[in-house]
Amino acid sequence: MDKAMATTRIVIVGGGFGGLAAAKALRNTPAQIHLIDRANHHLFQPLLYQVATAALTPSQIATPIRTILRRQKNTTVILGEVTGVDKESKCVFVTNVDREGVPIPYDYLILATGATHSYFGHNDFAKYAPGMKSLADAVASRNKILQAFEQAEAEEDPSRHRDLLTFILVGAGPTGVELAGALAVLVRTTLKSEFRRIDPASARIVLVDRGPRVLSSFSEKLSQAAKQRLENLGVEVRLGHSVDEIDADGIMVEGERIASKTVIWTAGVAPSPAGGWLKAETDRTGRVRIQRDLSVPGHPEIFVVGDTASFEENGKPLPGVAQVAMQQGRHAAKLIHSRVVGKLPPGPFSYFDKGTMAVVGKGFAILQSGKIQVSGFGAWVAWATVHLQFLATSSLRLTVFLQWIWTYVTGQRGSRLIVDHHGSEPGLTPKRTVVKPAA
Ligand SMILES: Cc1cc2nc3c(=O)[nH]c(=O)nc-3n(C[C@H](O)[C@H](O)[C@H](O)COP(=O)(O)OP(=O)(O)OC[C@H]3O[C@@H](n4cnc5c(N)ncnc54)[C@H](O)[C@@H]3O)c2cc1C
Repeated sequence: MDKAMATTRIVIVGGGFGGLAAAKALRNTPAQIHLIDRANHHLFQPLLYQVATAALTPSQIATPIRTILRRQKNTTVILGEVTGVDKESKCVFVTNVDREGVPIPYDYLILATGATHSYFGHNDFAKYAPGMKSLADAVASRNKILQAFEQAEAEEDPSRHRDLLTFILVGAGPTGVELAGALAVLVRTTLKSEFRRIDPASARIVLVDRGPRVLSSFSEKLSQAAKQRLENLGVEVRLGHSVDEIDADGIMVEGERIASKTVIWTAGVAPSPAGGWLKAETDRTGRVRIQRDLSVPGHPEIFVVGDTASFEENGKPLPGVAQVAMQQGRHAAKLIHSRVVGKLPPGPFSYFDKGTMAVVGKGFAILQSGKIQVSGFGAWVAWATVHLQFLATSSLRLTVFLQWIWTYVTGQRGSRLIVDHHGSEPGLTPKRTVVKPAA
């Protein structure tokens, strides 16, 4: 790259699916690119549930962004949290470990800051029902699940086993369904012969959703196939019921109390606060409304892509999935590249839907692509192939592939360690005093 030419500064915020795709697509652009992320790694979120159920280790689904872009000499990776944007002076403000609000100037800006979970106004649920958005979330859920079995094994009073071995998942979208299926397989295979006082296979797994069906973004037929499969695996599916309360001892759903020590939130999502930083128009859920070229109205130099953007096609908003984020990231990059080198810009963005999949337990998935609707082992092979292909590096593809084969054949899991990164949370599990029998 000609250093004298490289005076254009492109800032990308977020090294997830959208931001990373944009950065890679700018590899030959004569510009200085800064990619800023608050995490040092690119996370493959679709496999988070496998970390939560001990099938994979955290390092098998995440890679340092710096490693992925190591050969891309025009790109600098910065670890820091963006807290705001000044559209007039064209800079973003970054806070990192020892400095606050450091301005980083841009000529072009791509915001790809994704989404987080939403408790639909019940933020008090977060304390008892962790979400599933980051590696820390998945490890926290794994700890909770494995800890419940350990606690039950150590508990002499069998009447307490039921609560300890009841697992509740709130939200029957892809995350809830995939997690429920994987949990059912974990308790009935891997853990089967390892405990003496309890029978892990007796664990109760309850999947609750206020909607009328599981995986509502799929066709009715596939959604029914997924529900049937979950029930065959022993999962209790409760649809059309809202969760009214969650506390340390369980949930209240439609007036009924379900006692449980492990509740995991797999329901709604809320976009990043990018709309607030830009003071731009947002949709009902808070995603930034963008134009056909993915830019923010009135600011042709600012683009928003992925889960934090609202883009309608054929009268319907595009879904919050990895393919949308990647295709939008590449499109924004292509448009910026054309402006930097003085070429004709690409036409308006158009999404190419390659189809969607969800896995339900061992060897079973559903797949929907246009008119194609399949479920079963064939769909599971397609799911495994596609997911392997989209992992960030060849070493991850290889280790995950080998781990899956090993788990498929032996039932053994990759990572069953209870590692408390968050520290113990006093108050969540109050200690009971055990009365000693008289000597
Ligand atoms: C559990 C789960 C399972 C999923 N399964 C599937 C699936 O099977 N198939 C599918 O297509 N999609 C799936 N999705 C959705 C998919 O992961 C998202 O649509 C996709 O990640 C969106 O890409 P993005 O670039 O918009 O955001 P992300 O990939 O979430 O990336 C956002 C990045 O921005 C960074 N960031 C956020 N805020 C800041 C800030 N203020 N400063 C600096 N950095 C910041 C984050 O650290 C992150 O790296 C799943 C999501 C989850 C949570």
